Amino acid sequence: MLPYFSDQYGNPSSIYRFASEANEAKESAREQVAKLLGVKPQEIVFTSGGTEADNFAIKGIVYANKNKGNHIITSKIEHHAVFNTCKYLEKQGFKVTYISVDKYGIVDLNELKDAITDKTILITIMYANNEMGTIEPIEEIGKIAKENKIYFHTDAVQTVGKIPTNVDELGCDLLSLSGHKFYGPKGAGALYIKKGTRIDPLIHGGHHERNRRAGTENVPGIVGLGKACEIALEERDKEEIKFSKLRDKLSQGIFSKIDDVILTGHPEHRLAGTFSICVKYVEGESMLLNLDLEGIAASSGSACTSGSLEPSHVLLAMGIPHEIAHGSLRFSLGRGNTEEDVDRVIEVLPRIVEKLRAMSPFGKRG
Ligand code: PLP
Repeated sequence: MLPYFSDQYGNPSSIYRFASEANEAKESAREQVAKLLGVKPQEIVFTSGGTEADNFAIKGIVYANKNKGNHIITSKIEHHAVFNTCKYLEKQGFKVTYISVDKYGIVDLNELKDAITDKTILITIMYANNEMGTIEPIEEIGKIAKENKIYFHTDAVQTVGKIPTNVDELGCDLLSLSGHKFYGPKGAGALYIKKGTRIDPLIHGGHHERNRRAGTENVPGIVGLGKACEIALEERDKEEIKFSKLRDKLSQGIFSKIDDVILTGHPEHRLAGTFSICVKYVEGESMLLNLDLEGIAASSGSACTSGSLEPSHVLLAMGIPHEIAHGSLRFSLGRGNTEEDVDRVIEVLPRIVEKLRAMSPFGKRG
């Protein structure tokens, strides 16, 4: 990325020679992204990240197709980038159905089928959940959408670069991804748009990105995103095995040393690097602060909702009671983690939980 911040500062839309170098770098990044998804480079539009890609997909489809209907189907466990976009569209007169999930967070396919009407223009359901890592039956949802001739968008921000994400197999028309979820830069993402899809732009202005997304492109970010895709293609499968081993070790250690802990998410159909639990009789936030003092970075619910007193809408949708959802704790395992890191969490967390439970006004030990 570095040369594109300094020496190679050309604007890719300009005519001069070093502009074409920037343009070539951008187009080769487009090829790298397309290769990871198994699609054509022309079907990739660069965005400022996952949130913009989700907004573009959802608003772009419903505005361009509102002559056909006004109904959107989504799930109760979407990231706020999708959830709040749907809430906004409800205020604009669109109807939204939020499909339930089971206790593992898997979308109810029968409820989905029953929700379809002749006014349904879009189904948007995430590939894997960011809080507890459950992987949704996207291929089956893709088939249902296709049979009913409804556009299907999936927020694949948590899966791209982590598990195989072949668009043909998934059967989606639109797919969002974000660079910083797989070691690329923040502020760089993309939306896959299947050729022939009727979609309005989200951002209006110049003729960039084949008239689909106006604005001078973030060349260093795009170059970084492309490189992250290239590396992911080489490393992804090996890393998945490594992360699941670390995750299983972490899980074993925590469940054997702390009682009254529940696993959230599906025990098998989940991302290898996501380990999410609820620890009863303790506040998630208090665990996070104590872990942070020990140099351990973890999350409770989603990063965006941390700091709010409301428990995660995802855990509540899975039927987890309020008081238990408050004790949510999520560890994300990545390229930089080692067995020693896991050992340290197993050593430190039980002490923290014991201390907090002893002070807890709600706990059985309080
Ligand atoms: N969708 C999901 C599932 C996510 O996990 C995130 C980020 O956490 C986003 C969308 C938003 O992506 P970005 O941070 O690139 O805007």
